[in-house]
Amino acid sequence: MSLIVQKYGGSSVANAEKILRVAQRVIKRKKAGNKVVVVVSAMGDMTDDLIDLSKQINPDPQEREMDMLLATGEQVSIALLAMAIHKLGHEAVSFTGPQVGIITDAFHSKARIQNISPDRIKKALVQGKIVIVAGFQGQTPAGEITTLGRGGSDLTAVALAVALKAKHCEIYTDVDGIYTADPRVIPDAKKMDQVTYDEILELASLGAKVMHSRSIEVGKKFNMPIWVCNSHKEVKGTLITKENKAMEEVVVSGVALAEDEAKITLFRVQDRPGVAAKIFQTLADANVNVDMIIQNKTKTNSTDISFTVFKNELQKALKVVNSSAKKLGVGEVVSDQNIAKVSVVGIGMRSHSGIASKMFSVLAKNKINIDMISTSEIKISVVVAGDKGKLAAQVIHKAFGLGKGK
Ligand code: ADP
Ligand code: ASP
Ligand code: MG
Repeated sequence: MSLIVQKYGGSSVANAEKILRVAQRVIKRKKAGNKVVVVVSAMGDMTDDLIDLSKQINPDPQEREMDMLLATGEQVSIALLAMAIHKLGHEAVSFTGPQVGIITDAFHSKARIQNISPDRIKKALVQGKIVIVAGFQGQTPAGEITTLGRGGSDLTAVALAVALKAKHCEIYTDVDGIYTADPRVIPDAKKMDQVTYDEILELASLGAKVMHSRSIEVGKKFNMPIWVCNSHKEVKGTLITKENKAMEEVVVSGVALAEDEAKITLFRVQDRPGVAAKIFQTLADANVNVDMIIQNKTKTNSTDISFTVFKNELQKALKVVNSSAKKLGVGEVVSDQNIAKVSVVGIGMRSHSGIASKMFSVLAKNKINIDMISTSEIKISVVVAGDKGKLAAQVIHKAFGLGKGK
């Protein structure tokens, strides 16, 4: 009898009818002879709605209270899914993250899982029950409720699959699997049969919202196979797995577009050792994630530094940067929210050249100016003007022959 962990995202449990449909699907899996653990997200846009509600009351809420609020979304869906399964005549029990021993650090709103003690889950499985767990949440050793970052139910599912030594983890969502690009932005995008952890890790951290990036890091570390499938259709999804020979031959496997970053530029920064260290240390201390960084040498003894942060952390970042800028005698601090980051990813890039020049020339042909560039062994990212992001993603996707139409 194999143990399977399934996760259903917000769109899959958006209303009563959909919850009943998920219940049927889960029961079918149990009847086929599996032990089933189900992780669910909050219904539909409930997390966004709760955030909006909180802002109406206090635009700058304490992070502890925000986590307390957001964790309620998943608690609604676990109880409703358990009721749906009961209605269909099967046994199920729902648990919150803390109830199944998900212990995290204390970084509210983006806590990391430190440990899971799944004894309660194991006991319920032995009793023949379907176990339903709230995604996206845990608690600190001191008993404070935390959340794992937006989209964090994926992480709950993969981490539970590892802790329970499941056969694999199944992520159910509103598309057929992982595509060469977001199918909502590029309708010509093609579903992939399989993709490596490294590629999807890059795609996820580059803006492809289909999977939470830390869930892939955990999957990779413990070599847990992850299937991404459609919750409404019985079609073969995409398997996220470790690299194999055939996969290396694909040079570019996907394109990602991120529109949730903003750029901060510091003009006339003194060009001496320690200045950049100071600026980025204060950002790290404030727990702001910095993504791309570029620094330009000028002929004078000052330099300009640009970097990107998530839009929802821009105000926090500016507060920190403005205060260190004053101390360090930086000329001027400017921010720009009208940017988009477009990236190409593929493990085959390690052994092929000419990818960057192809990407840059197709952008030039379409009169799209490149603002920043960053590369790794398996990806190239560029920042362009915000209103050019979609076009850039489309022309690059086409240039690399990734679409169904080619
Ligand atoms: P869930 O609520 O199930 O967690 P998400 O909205 O988090 O669903 O993720 C699914 C969405 O991810 C899809 O609807 C799709 O628009 C988006 N997406 C972005 N990039 C990709 C990609 N490369 N492949 C598939 N989906 C993608
Ligand atoms: N409900 C949370 C969110 O919307 C977690 C998740 O959906 O995975 O981010
Ligand atoms: Mg998601």
